[in-house]
Amino acid sequence: MTHWRAEDFTGIRGILTNAEPLSRHTWLGVGGPADLYFEPADEADLAAFMRQADSTMPLLLLGAGSNMLVRDGGVEGCVIHLGEAFSAITEAGDSLMAGAAVTDAALARAAGKLGRGGLSFLVSIPGTIGGGLRMNAGCYGSEFKDVVERARIMLRDGTIVERTPAEMGMSYRHSDVEADAIFLSARFRTTPKSVEACKAEMKEMLQKRAETQPQGVRTGGSTFANPDGDNAWRVIDAAGGRGLRVGGAHMSEKHCNFMINSGTASAHDLEELGEEIRRRVAAHSGISLRWEIKLCGRAMMKETKHA
Ligand SMILES: Cc1cc2nc3c(=O)[nH]c(=O)nc-3n(C[C@H](O)[C@H](O)[C@H](O)COP(=O)(O)OP(=O)(O)OC[C@H]3O[C@@H](n4cnc5c(N)ncnc54)[C@H](O)[C@@H]3O)c2cc1C
Repeated sequence: MTHWRAEDFTGIRGILTNAEPLSRHTWLGVGGPADLYFEPADEADLAAFMRQADSTMPLLLLGAGSNMLVRDGGVEGCVIHLGEAFSAITEAGDSLMAGAAVTDAALARAAGKLGRGGLSFLVSIPGTIGGGLRMNAGCYGSEFKDVVERARIMLRDGTIVERTPAEMGMSYRHSDVEADAIFLSARFRTTPKSVEACKAEMKEMLQKRAETQPQGVRTGGSTFANPDGDNAWRVIDAAGGRGLRVGGAHMSEKHCNFMINSGTASAHDLEELGEEIRRRVAAHSGISLRWEIKLCGRAMMKETKHA
């Protein structure tokens, strides 16, 4: 039983509810309820909530939910989702400022329209700026740490700090920033490039995606980070993981590092599938794969039928 309740907070202007089902908010379409779910009206509202929140209450930030596997038992404490109030894109000299709720694709397109290069790779990553900062997301040879000048971050006590990528310890699909810190916005470096060239670059990247990755399915993108000097998909394929099924979950035939919920998967099925892949790869090549998808929440055991 939860002891965190919306009724215990006063003066909150945003949406604060009990028991919000997280399956509605994740790309994989699974996840039990959050004890508390909060969409702040603005930064001041978020700070007011943080000041009232008991320091023992766990916090989990949720962006577009494109890199999260939330377990069936839901999430203890509060899940915070930044919405409309955090979705501005503004010009700042040669740089662009983007709120944490801006989608990567929206920032890439806005930069392209302004004739600013360097951000086109973001067009094909389906997350938000907040999730991208946490994950140091990237593709086609670029990642967040290459283009971010600094990020604004709200700490657990409601204070706001600014940090550079070096200060955030950003490395391959990782940042060292405190787990309960909240990215509010970031400033991005751009270089001049013609509108047409930006458009062509983005079109090419999206085409490449469509050719190599499953489209229109419930997935979390790359399930595992690439091991040093190799590709996760290659070692999964070599260990017989392509198409492997557990309950309603399977590894994509098209890109075998993508796990897919075919419609009936529980979070348990998906996690079991990932762990079975890790076991097979370890047995086949001795490589210990690291989950790139963030696993969170409480387990709720369900019977799983192995294929
Ligand atoms: C089809 C598909 C393709 C993908 N391709 C790529 C790719 O090419 N490259 C790549 O790097 N990733 C890729 N991903 C994974 C995913 O899109 C990225 O990791 C993305 O950056 C996650 O952003 P999000 O907003 O969805 O974050 P979420 O999935 O919601 O959260 C991810 C992490 O960020 C944290 N977080 C989210 N918002 C905030 C915030 N405001 N403050 C603090 N922490 C926060 C969460 O707590 C969690 O730890 C892909 C995913 C899919 C489904």
